[in-house]
Amino acid sequence: MIRANSTIEAIPAGEPFIGPERIMRERGRQTMLRLGANESAFGPSPLAVAAMTAELAHLSWYGDPDSYDLRTALAERWDAAREEMLVTSGIDELLGLVVRCFLAAGETAVSSAGTYPTFAYHVIGYGGCMESVSYRNDASIDLDALAAAAQRCDAAICYLANPDNPSGSFVDADALARFRSALPSRTLLLLDEAYAEFADPAALPVPRALPGVVRARTFSKLYGLAGARIGYAVAPQTLLAPMLKVRLQYGVNRNAQIGALAALNDDAFARDVRERTVRGRAAYAALGAELGLPTLDSATNFVCFDCSSRERADALLEALLQRGVWTRKPGLAPLDRCVRVTVGNESDRERFASELRAVCARVTA
Ligand SMILES: *Cc1c(COP(=O)(O)O)cnc(C)c1O
Repeated sequence: MIRANSTIEAIPAGEPFIGPERIMRERGRQTMLRLGANESAFGPSPLAVAAMTAELAHLSWYGDPDSYDLRTALAERWDAAREEMLVTSGIDELLGLVVRCFLAAGETAVSSAGTYPTFAYHVIGYGGCMESVSYRNDASIDLDALAAAAQRCDAAICYLANPDNPSGSFVDADALARFRSALPSRTLLLLDEAYAEFADPAALPVPRALPGVVRARTFSKLYGLAGARIGYAVAPQTLLAPMLKVRLQYGVNRNAQIGALAALNDDAFARDVRERTVRGRAAYAALGAELGLPTLDSATNFVCFDCSSRERADALLEALLQRGVWTRKPGLAPLDRCVRVTVGNESDRERFASELRAVCARVTA
C-alpha cells in the first residue's frame, strides 16, 4: 500500500479554495460578476500586455532564474539591494518557501483567526501548528494579543497581513514598529503587503528590508497580473539565503517577469488604478450607508459590508450568487457578519449596486 507521508496523511481532504469557474460550472452559468477574489477590475497595464505579447514567440525559452532585470528594477524603487529581493510565483509560493525554511515540523506559527487562509495552508502542509487570536470586535487586528501569542508559543513565524485581508484594516508604521519590538527575537515576521500599494504611502514602513521580517509583495492586485502569478519578497539577505537553497529555480513564468517589469515602469497606470479604487471604496461606503449595511474602513481594493449577523451575511451572499454576482465572506466571528466585495470598475459597481439593492429588499435583517 503506497501512502503519503504522515504529515500529509494527517491533513483532512477538503477544498481549500473553490474558484469561480467551479461555481459557474456547478450552477450552469456562462458569466458571473467576479467580485470575490480581489482581482483588479482595471486590468493589467497596457504596457505589460504589449511587452508580454511581443515576447510570446520566445515562450520556448526558460525565464531568467535570477529574475535579474526585475530584481534590479525593484531594488531601485526600494531603498534596498538586489540581493534583498526574491521573485516568486506570487506571494502564495513565497509563503510555502518561508514555512519550509523557517518552521520545523511540530513548531508553531501565529496569526489572526480568519486572516488570509494560505498562511495556515502551508503551516499545516509542512507539519506545523497554527495558533490564532481573534480579531477585535471592530474588525481590527489585536496586535497585543498576537504578540503575546507569539511569546507564549515561542512562535517560529508570526503572520500579519497589512493592509489585512479580509478586514481591509491597516496599521501604520509606528504601530507596526511597536508590534515588531514586542515579538520574540527568534520569531520571523511574515509581513504580507499584498495591498500595500492601495494604502497611504506615508503610513507604510520605510521601503527597506527590515531585520527579522520578510515583506511579501505581489503584482496580482494593483498591477492586475493575478493570472501571470508573480510576486516578490523584500528581506535581509540572511533570510533569503535559505530560500535560495531550495526554491524552484524555474518557478517564475518567463512572460510574467517581462510583464511585471513593464507594469512596474507604468507609474501613470498604477496611479490611475489607485485613484479609481479609492473612488470605488467611497462609492461602496455610500451604497452601504444607503442600505443599512455599514462598511468597514478599507485600505485595500475591497470593502466589507457589515450585515449585522452571520445569518444575514450568508443569505445576502447566496442571493447575490443566484443573480450571478460572486462575492465572498469571512468564515469566523467577528468578521463572519460581513460580505467582502472587490472594488469593481464603474460598470461593475453599477451592476453590483442594483443587485445588492434588489437582494436587500428581500433578505431582511
Ligand atoms: C491576494 C492575496 C495574496 C495572493 O498573492 P499572489 O501573489 O497572487 O499569490 C497574498 N496575500 C494576501 C493577503 C492576499 O489577499
